[in-house]
Amino acid sequence: MENTIEKALTGIEQVTGSRNRGEAVVFSDFLKIMVRRPSRVSRNVFQLFHDMVMSQIDDGVDEYEGDPESINFVYYDCSRLFAEDSDHPFFPDRLFANRFIHQIEAFKRGAQQNKIYIFEGPHGSGKSTFLNNLLHKFENYVNTPEGMSYETLWRLDRSLLDRHAEKDTIVAVEKLLQLLETPSTGKHELIEAQRELSSTGEYLEIPCPSHDHPLLNIPKEVRRKFLDDLFLNDEEKWKLFTEKEYEWIFKNNPCTICSSLYQALLSRLHSPTKVLNMLYARPYRYNRRLGEGISVFNPGDHSTKNYVLTNDILQSRINALLRDSNEVQYLYSKFAKTNNGIYALMDIKSHNTSRLIELHNIISEGVHKVVDLEENVNSLFLALMNPEDKKHIENFQSFTDRIEYIHIPYVMDLTTEVEIYRNIFSRHLGQSFLPRVLNNFARTIISTRLDKTSDALLEWIGDPKKYSMYCDENLHLLKMEIYRGYIPEWLTEEDRKRLTATRRRRIIDESEKEGWQGLSGRDAIKLFGEFFSQSARKDRLINMTNLYKYFQKLPVDSAVMIPEGFLDSLVRMYNFSVLQEVKESLYYYNEAQIARDIKNYLFAVNFEIGSTQTCRFTSDRLEITEDFLGAIERRLLGSQESPEILIQFRRDVQKRYAGRTLTQEILLENRAVEETYLFKDLHDRYVFNLKEKVLDPFMENQNFRNAIRDFNNVEFKTYDDRIREDVTFLIKNLCQNFNYTKRGAREVCMYVTDQELAQKFSHR
Ligand SMILES: [Zn+2]
Repeated sequence: MENTIEKALTGIEQVTGSRNRGEAVVFSDFLKIMVRRPSRVSRNVFQLFHDMVMSQIDDGVDEYEGDPESINFVYYDCSRLFAEDSDHPFFPDRLFANRFIHQIEAFKRGAQQNKIYIFEGPHGSGKSTFLNNLLHKFENYVNTPEGMSYETLWRLDRSLLDRHAEKDTIVAVEKLLQLLETPSTGKHELIEAQRELSSTGEYLEIPCPSHDHPLLNIPKEVRRKFLDDLFLNDEEKWKLFTEKEYEWIFKNNPCTICSSLYQALLSRLHSPTKVLNMLYARPYRYNRRLGEGISVFNPGDHSTKNYVLTNDILQSRINALLRDSNEVQYLYSKFAKTNNGIYALMDIKSHNTSRLIELHNIISEGVHKVVDLEENVNSLFLALMNPEDKKHIENFQSFTDRIEYIHIPYVMDLTTEVEIYRNIFSRHLGQSFLPRVLNNFARTIISTRLDKTSDALLEWIGDPKKYSMYCDENLHLLKMEIYRGYIPEWLTEEDRKRLTATRRRRIIDESEKEGWQGLSGRDAIKLFGEFFSQSARKDRLINMTNLYKYFQKLPVDSAVMIPEGFLDSLVRMYNFSVLQEVKESLYYYNEAQIARDIKNYLFAVNFEIGSTQTCRFTSDRLEITEDFLGAIERRLLGSQESPEILIQFRRDVQKRYAGRTLTQEILLENRAVEETYLFKDLHDRYVFNLKEKVLDPFMENQNFRNAIRDFNNVEFKTYDDRIREDVTFLIKNLCQNFNYTKRGAREVCMYVTDQELAQKFSHR
């Protein structure tokens, strides 16, 4: 029993120890660590924040690598940063992810400190989830070895500063022993006595409440020289000394507590080395709940009354040890606790409005007064804001130069929108839908969030009508593709060429103004849930007809948000696309079949009608009948030709085959049959007629339609070979090339039949 308890306790110790242990090291040892990893050990909060984000995100993916007009609008997988290990994952779309990463890169360059970063977006855009997840990941990161940073801790050696130290200790020990022997001693008294003993121990520990980086305690005027001597002339040193992101190392001052301590110690010890021997570095332990390094304020949080924080016990010990009144004043503000950390405001309303105004004043100066001392503030200031709350700070003209707005609107990239549904409803959501339909739900939602007209697209495309088969007249469907990093194949070659970097940038820039209205994230999830539960059936997949009907019946307040004509365009685009898929799937099959038909035909024309032969090219056993030859001839020439023409054609082919193809090309020149002139000629004819006629079975052949319906039923066996073969190949190709399941492929063919798409689009 005792063994297991001990084991369990050791287990806890190991886990918590590995995360938060980290002893203070004397400054000279800290320098050794620093020499080993200069750029890692010297990071301010902006650099740390940057490194944290980048540690969670891989390099962006450019789907069109090598495109000379690329504007580097790439795909970032943000799932590790915003979704993994999170109760409430956040899904940034491609637009926001790019915006965010650019901002993070700016943090690292250090060009934009002394600013407040406000993430501004409408209700239901997921702002608070975004910030909470971000802060959570930051807190985790900075408490790992990889993300660790150091802060200042002073350990004043009593033996060097106070001749009376020894005597004090003896008195304190005696007092404690006395108390322990007295049975009536209260717990409180014991603790007090112990504390007094520790305070009279070898050292007096004074933590820096501003979490100053230990290096800042090297006086500024000698710091550059000091570091120059410390480091070898290598690349890391070069970085440290020249890059803007490390400027703070040479520029910043320690807090007044640290600097006055330094001065006080120097005046007693008369040696900077002896002073620095009392300087320690310890891991900066960030803790959001305690407000150390990370503080998050909600609008309803009341301001703390004591603006000035002190520590009376520590102050009296400092005074006692230094035997001087007020030389070192241990007082600081709440901002010290997030120095080198993150100070965040959730929503600019109520108490947070005054907090923001207070921040602004501090940031403008970079320092603020705490009683009569100046306190440095170098924090990452983040805030969230709804557009309607902007009025609270409108009267402060000077805000504009200190605030950086980063827009966080509704999702406008359909890949992300679908990912959100998947996350909430089911990873396997797609299995309940025909391909494209789930995306089309997202497209409809996103259509409510886009501006009606796009100057950038109109300037590029000109007249939208030329794409009426693929796109709505507001070009929303085109814009959505570009917002998800995809350049549609249906664009003409000319328009594709005109999609220059400048035009791309203009289009992406329009996204800054969009996504502020329309159906919110919450609305979309609610609608999707409703649609899904209404339409999901065991016996069939959710299709476009379901989708169209659902949005048609939407309550007016939501329905008006969908642009006029959008749904019809969406259905038209869908119909056109699936018809293309079906066409290609039928045609693919024929590509394989064509060669076989032609080879058999070339062989068969040399024999008498009624004979049975084995083809030398395909090894097929052929019953050479009028029907057999006629069927292939109609594929080669079209079904309108008269029997006389067919017979004439057959004679010509036989003559050419015997005269040149076989004797000259195959036997003499050793060519494969596919490489002969005659084969190529027939092949071209076959393909030409096929493309014209590929949808004929859908239009004319009731049997073909029935066979699709009965595919996978026992009745399917009752259809003739040719139809069965055609349908099977069609289904197979739809599965292989267009991601259908067998069931989905059958259903989409039924859809094409029911909607008479072949007839509707036959003029094309
Ligand atoms: Zn300090």
